Amino acid sequence: MLSLHDTATGRVEALELRDPGRVSMYVCGPTVYDVPHLGHGRFSLVFDVIRRYLEFSGLEVRYCSNITDIDDKIIQKAAAEGRTQAEVADQFEAVWWEAMDALGVKRPDDTPHATDWVPQMVELVADLVARGAAYETSDGVYLSVEGVEGYGLLGHQSLDSLRSGARVEIDEEKRSPLDFAVWKKVKPGEPSWEAPFGAGRPGWHTECVVMSLGLLGEGFDLHGGGADLAFPHHENERAQAVVLGRAFARHWVHNGWVVVEGEKMSKSLGNFTSLTDLLARADARAYRLLVLRAHYRSPIEVNGDSVGQAVESLERLDNLARRLGLPADLAGVDSAGAVAAGADPDALAAFVEAMDEDLQTARALAGIFDLVTRANIAADAGEEAEATRVGTTVAVLCGALGLPLGGAPDDIDPETAALVAERNEARTSRDFPRADAIRVELEARGWIVMDGPEGTAIHR
Ligand SMILES: [Zn+2]
Repeated sequence: MLSLHDTATGRVEALELRDPGRVSMYVCGPTVYDVPHLGHGRFSLVFDVIRRYLEFSGLEVRYCSNITDIDDKIIQKAAAEGRTQAEVADQFEAVWWEAMDALGVKRPDDTPHATDWVPQMVELVADLVARGAAYETSDGVYLSVEGVEGYGLLGHQSLDSLRSGARVEIDEEKRSPLDFAVWKKVKPGEPSWEAPFGAGRPGWHTECVVMSLGLLGEGFDLHGGGADLAFPHHENERAQAVVLGRAFARHWVHNGWVVVEGEKMSKSLGNFTSLTDLLARADARAYRLLVLRAHYRSPIEVNGDSVGQAVESLERLDNLARRLGLPADLAGVDSAGAVAAGADPDALAAFVEAMDEDLQTARALAGIFDLVTRANIAADAGEEAEATRVGTTVAVLCGALGLPLGGAPDDIDPETAALVAERNEARTSRDFPRADAIRVELEARGWIVMDGPEGTAIHR
């Protein structure tokens, strides 16, 4: 069974499921007001890999990830551009899915939109007020964190130390600087919903607690997101559930930062390099490979060099796939199916061991590249059955990680095929000037030319 580092306990722990055989996951999705950044890409890939691996392990996964379609930033952008908040949100949600599809991130089973859940949020806020846990001010309704048992669990700080570290509050109506808005009262020109405590809109932390519990039920298995969400977002979601006496997430998982040229990836630092930009300029699989090369909690550096290295590694995979005619995408095959498909049981066991141990994807990937070497050696030696067996294992394991291989051999027209044959003859008869001339000709026609022991291989 998969073990993951749990932010709440600070330990690597086996996932203990609410319902045997079934996993319920809630991963905080984007606020749709701009193109996605690299950090969005990373968390989406990390949790996609976790989801796929759980499915590969034979578990049924329900994956829920929200779209925040009402928020200060959306409202500001809409106002600045003279559009409605819904127009802005729709535009950038479309951009989001386009990027996710390009990355090969499986669509969630549930994609709740905040604006569809406002009545339930109003109900929750009313409940918090009725219990005396939340209080009204002139601009909203706030949850008082003072009485919340275990507040600071995810931030790994006591209430005292959080309080002393809190920014000096301008809002004198708040009882503690740590108290957070569960409801924001309407300001002129803003969209709003009616509520007993004044028209307005829900706070972000309220959105996720309502939708996760609403869709997945109490005590769902895993709540995830980027490391920046652990505190205060997830802490504050949890605080509301605690006040209401509702069992919340059993496990908390957070992924590490994306570092761009040595700086922490955060929009507020202004070093914004978008995911959309990366996808326009590189093979989308390169980002997945880059993410897999690091442990999910470690920071990763995304720049031309690291993406370029990932592209080179992809070529090794793709070349093997072409050489052996491996299936492009074996996603959806689980570990039992992998054995039936002829994968190497020892390699499979090593993969599972690495992944089960807090998702050691770098180790799993290193194992896959060892298999690539083995498959090529077997193919060089003419051991076809062994090459196919090991190559199939590569395809299966890449499929489990959501990494499709470069695919079927390219269609080679007869004229080009004749050139390849002629080049093979030239090399056999050691007519290297002629072989070089044909290479130039093939490259001019858009082919990449590779020489192997079996002769010239070409691909697009
Ligand atoms: Zn959230």
